[in-house]
Amino acid sequence: MTRTRIASATTRAGRPAGSVSLVAISKGQPAAAIRALAELGQRDFGENYLQEAMPKLEALRDLPITWHFTGQIQSNKTRTIAESFAWVHTLDRERIALRLNEQRPEHLPPINVCLEVRLEEEAGKGGAEPAQIADLAARVRDLPRLKLRGLMALPPPRESFAEQKQLFDRVANLLQELQAAGFDVDTLSMGMSGDLEAAIAAGATYVRVGTALFGERRPA
Ligand SMILES: *Cc1c(COP(=O)(O)O)cnc(C)c1O
Repeated sequence: MTRTRIASATTRAGRPAGSVSLVAISKGQPAAAIRALAELGQRDFGENYLQEAMPKLEALRDLPITWHFTGQIQSNKTRTIAESFAWVHTLDRERIALRLNEQRPEHLPPINVCLEVRLEEEAGKGGAEPAQIADLAARVRDLPRLKLRGLMALPPPRESFAEQKQLFDRVANLLQELQAAGFDVDTLSMGMSGDLEAAIAAGATYVRVGTALFGERRPA
């Protein structure tokens, strides 16, 4: 169902089949539900809370899962993230980038990172201001244990598809600005259960979907 939504939104946007990947956001879901989806071929899973995530990563070690960290990052949690995840979607400040770089184990490839863009002032939300993104990108590019991949956003809901797409277009424009400035970036992580069509129309390469895949979450 979610795969069908992604495929038809990709076609409608005139984009090549397979150009949008799905990160299954499994926060609030038990390991058994992740296992069931992984056995159907889903590879990428995202978690937001380390305390909840780590027992699940442990229980699912036998599966070839690529783990994405999609929650807000506290600086005392960076080591666990650096040791356990292939991707971080929510990097929004230099201090955290330095810690992840220092703590990424040598036997692992550089950790893939997206910079989280905050489009509007919203209480409790992370993200760097659009005006700070180019500077932060330049810092991250210099860190050898991080691989800057692109941008992530979690915009507030809008009434219409057109308004929703406008917000995602701003993130896509920021990515193009980085590319024009010579950054080797290819990833736009945006779109969730409720707005993935608008995100794909604006150029998302990863959509992060939870409830539409798994059903309602258990409270964290
Ligand atoms: C929870 C969450 C999602 C998934 O949201 P759904 O509406 O359940 O699809 C995506 N991205 C982030 C960062 C989240 O925290």
